[in-house]
Amino acid sequence: MQDEKKTKKQLISELAEIRRQCALLEKPDPDRYGAEAALRENDEKFRNIAETAVDAIILANRDGDIIFWNKSAQRIFAYSEEEILGKPLTVLMPDQYRDDHRRGMQRLASTGESKYFGRITEMQGLRKDGSVFPIELSVSMWKTDQGMFFSGIIRDITKRKKLESELEIMATTDKLTQAFNRTKFYKVIKNEFERARRYGHPLSLVMFDIDHFKRINDTYGHSVGDYVLQTLTRIVSENLREVDYLIRWGGEEFNIITPDTDMKRAEVLADRIRKAVESYRFDQAGTLTISLGVAQFMADDNEDTFVKRADDAMYLAKKKGRNRIEVCA
Ligand code: GH3
Ligand code: MG
Ligand code: MG
Repeated sequence: MQDEKKTKKQLISELAEIRRQCALLEKPDPDRYGAEAALRENDEKFRNIAETAVDAIILANRDGDIIFWNKSAQRIFAYSEEEILGKPLTVLMPDQYRDDHRRGMQRLASTGESKYFGRITEMQGLRKDGSVFPIELSVSMWKTDQGMFFSGIIRDITKRKKLESELEIMATTDKLTQAFNRTKFYKVIKNEFERARRYGHPLSLVMFDIDHFKRINDTYGHSVGDYVLQTLTRIVSENLREVDYLIRWGGEEFNIITPDTDMKRAEVLADRIRKAVESYRFDQAGTLTISLGVAQFMADDNEDTFVKRADDAMYLAKKKGRNRIEVCA
C-alpha cells in the first residue's frame, strides 16, 4: 500500500514535469501572463488537446511505465486510467512485439536512437480483453532534469484495414462469377514464379473454355448464359484445393493456377473438372462441356509464355473435338 502510494506520487510528479516541459516549448510572454499563469494555460491546452484527440496519447517514463493516458487510449485499449498508470507499455502489445520492444528500449538508453522515431509504424495493439487489432504508432522522446520520457500517439486502424481488404477483394474479383480476375492473376503468378524458382517446386496452369457457349446465349438468352457462368465457377471451385486460384480470364474462358503441382497431377485435376462439368445438369441449359489445356512452368517462362502454352494446348483440345484435355510440354 505504501509502495503503491509512492508510485502514484512519483507518477503525478513526472506528469507535472511533462506539462512544465510542454509549457516551456510554447515560450509564452512572461510580461503579459506571468510565468505561473502561462504554465497553467499550457497545462490546460495540453489536457484539452489530449482529451479531445481521437488518437490514443500515451506518455511513458524512461523505464517504459505509463504515466499519462488520455480518453481515447481508454476507449481504444479498454483500460481505465487507474488500471493502466504505472503499468509497462508491453501490456499494450501482443507477445511477438515484447522482446523487440525491450531490446529497443535498451538500445535507446545506450544510443539515444530508435527505429520508431520520426515515422509512422504499422503494428498491432492488444486490448484489455486480449484481442489484437491493427494500429499506427508514432513515437517521440524528450529529456528533462528528471530523465527521459516518451510519448506515443496510436491510431486504431481496424476500420481502414477492413476497408482496404474489401477494396482489394473488389479490385481482384470478377463481379459476375466471384472468381478472381486478371489483376489477381498477375499478382499471384509473380509470387508463384518466385516460389517455383527459389524452391524448385512445380507449378502448372489449367486453362479452359466452354464449348459452344454462344449456342447457350443464342438459344436461352444472355441471363441463362450468365447463370451458367456462375454455376460453372461454383462446380470448378468445389474441385479445387484452398491453394489453387480460379481466374475468369475473359468471357467464358478461365485459368487455374495450381501451385506445387506438376503436369501429371494437373492433368488429373483437369480431368476431374472436365467430368464434373460434363455430368452436371444446368437449369434450362441442360448439359455442356469444356475443353482444357495444361502447361507446366519452365524456369525461363514469363507470364505470357506460360499462358500461351496453356492456351495453345486448349485450342488443340478444341481442334481435336472438344470436351477433352491437351497438354503442352
Ligand atoms: P467454342 O466451343 O469454340 O469455344 O465456341 P463458343 O461458342 O464457346 O465460342 P465463342 O468465342 O464463339 O463464344 C463465346 C461467347 O461467350 C460469346 C459471348 O457472347 C459469350 N460471353 C462472353 N462473356 C459473357 C458473359 O459475361 N455472359 C454471357 N451470357 N455470355 C458471355
Ligand atoms: Mg467457348
Ligand atoms: Mg472463348
